[in-house]
Amino acid sequence: MFKVTNVAGVVLPVETSNHRITQSGGFQRQCKTALTWTSIQSNPCGVTRRGDTPKPLPRLHKASLGLAEIETTMSREQLAVERARRAFCTGRSKPLENRIRQLNNLRRFLVERQAEIAEASKKDLNRSEVGIQLFETLGLESEIQLVIRKLKQWAAPRPVEKNLLTLSDTLYIQPEPLGVVLVIGAWNYPWAVTMFPLIGAIAAGNAAVVKPSEVCVHTAKVMEELLPVYLDKELYPVVTGGVTETQELLRQRFDHIVYTGNSMVGRIVMEAAAKHLTPVTLELGGKSPCYIDKHCDIPVACRRVTWGKYTNCGQTCIAPDYVLCEPSIQERVIEEMKKCIQVERRSCTVQYCLLEFYTDDPKSFPDYGRIINERHFKRVLAMTEDSAVAVGGDSDQTDCYIAPTILRDVKADSKVMQEEIFGPLLPIVPVNGLGEAISFINQREKPLVIYVFSTDDKLIKRVIEETSSGAVLANDCLVHYSVSSLPFGGVGNSGMGCYHGKFSFDQLSHLRSCMVKPLKNEGLNNMRYPPHTLKKLGWARFFLLKAPDLGWMGRMAALAVLVAVAGFLLHVSTAAIITPNP
Ligand code: NAD
Repeated sequence: MFKVTNVAGVVLPVETSNHRITQSGGFQRQCKTALTWTSIQSNPCGVTRRGDTPKPLPRLHKASLGLAEIETTMSREQLAVERARRAFCTGRSKPLENRIRQLNNLRRFLVERQAEIAEASKKDLNRSEVGIQLFETLGLESEIQLVIRKLKQWAAPRPVEKNLLTLSDTLYIQPEPLGVVLVIGAWNYPWAVTMFPLIGAIAAGNAAVVKPSEVCVHTAKVMEELLPVYLDKELYPVVTGGVTETQELLRQRFDHIVYTGNSMVGRIVMEAAAKHLTPVTLELGGKSPCYIDKHCDIPVACRRVTWGKYTNCGQTCIAPDYVLCEPSIQERVIEEMKKCIQVERRSCTVQYCLLEFYTDDPKSFPDYGRIINERHFKRVLAMTEDSAVAVGGDSDQTDCYIAPTILRDVKADSKVMQEEIFGPLLPIVPVNGLGEAISFINQREKPLVIYVFSTDDKLIKRVIEETSSGAVLANDCLVHYSVSSLPFGGVGNSGMGCYHGKFSFDQLSHLRSCMVKPLKNEGLNNMRYPPHTLKKLGWARFFLLKAPDLGWMGRMAALAVLVAVAGFLLHVSTAAIITPNP
């Protein structure tokens, strides 16, 4: 007897005379004579072409269990996925004009519901209204604008290089939607990490189930209540909930999963995806190092690092996690950063105010955030225990407040260096020069980004050549995230796959190889048909290894030669058939 949980959380037996629901939400039919179960959804959609009348799926109303009845036995998560799949199978997510309409609706949502978005963000992360626009929604609007402008080009067939053997063929890559995508978001930039993948999923013609993080309670509620007002709610449902709900979602079959969060859960996601051979994009975190060269403009470097570190109270996946620098500049670095963090408002001149971020009272400053919850507050604070505080260090548990804090002379084995900080602590780890910094970095997991501050191009190049990470950013922090022409993603422990701009589109599409050959030029194929002779091998060797790379004009000329060769080969093989070798 098979059991599922219905919407109200009641466990029900779901076995009927000849149909049942599988654990992954699929439907099976029993063969009465052989008593075996076969899937009736192995191709979840059947073939749906544009203009076809969509086939209703699954066709259970004629059997003993109606679709409506089946739906009442499904969990909320199963139901959302099943409906999204059925909506995808109607083909309505595919036409470019529909994708653009949905993207425009998403943009309208971001603009019209700015107040609700800002209010939720204030409650979740103490973000200011300007802050949420600057760090999240503005980037999303710009991404939508880019996608709408480029979609036709990205979705079009992409012709590819030909060689002498494929000169007369039509060769191209046709991006096609994958199906139903699951987007699991994290809490730190809840809009960016869920909406960027959603934009990519819509653009690529998929359906998508959006699962915002339960940790940002208010934001998740806004998503759940307001997104369906703007978007096709069957194609793009929002499913809220915690670990149980996410795990129930992960039991369903998807065509791609985009997960953003920590690498421990990343492993759980990948394991669940493996059961259905579902590809995954994992946007994880880690400790992103920052090397400051002693010859660089230290005040500017410190200003940029300070901004990168304390934005969103250090809860940024690409925040510089720790600083590596020579002992001789450590005190200077601390002083410069302190200036940025703590300039007294009352005493500063107008020009000096430009350097001021959080005043001498960050707690009451509107642009300084809070730790998301008490669990994370205690985790971050505990990291300071065995290190010397150079700046900051104050905290208030009732408000989840931790002041912008700098730790000096931090050792590799101290608590703060054992895991991603994800809070407003900046350890400074003294190293003797770049070589030591590089080996320090290479002894650890591959980070999401490596920052380097230097005016020496050779030094920057050395960092790029001798290390590995999701990205390298020289002389600034965070801003590579906003460049949609660069792929955003990690490597190794910091993740796999990438997104943003066209990379999201490609990541959530199947890049289908299309090759259309003419039925003529059969003579050329004799090279591969038996009997396999040395002469044929010689021709194959010439075509595959020796043929020069000709330009477009050359290829046209070669086509003519090719036809002549084909004629010759045809002649030779005909002769071989007439006078076979004994
Ligand atoms: P989180 O706690 O919000 O978890 C993320 C999602 O995983 C949530 O939707 C949650 O429901 C789900 N989840 C949690 N535990 C689960 C479990 N046991 N089984 C199944 N699902 C589960 O977020 P988090 O992990 O605290 O996020 C912070 C991490 O995310 C940091 O490491 C940060 O660096 C990383 N991050 C990475 C990026 C990026 O783009 N690479 C962006 C933001 C955050």
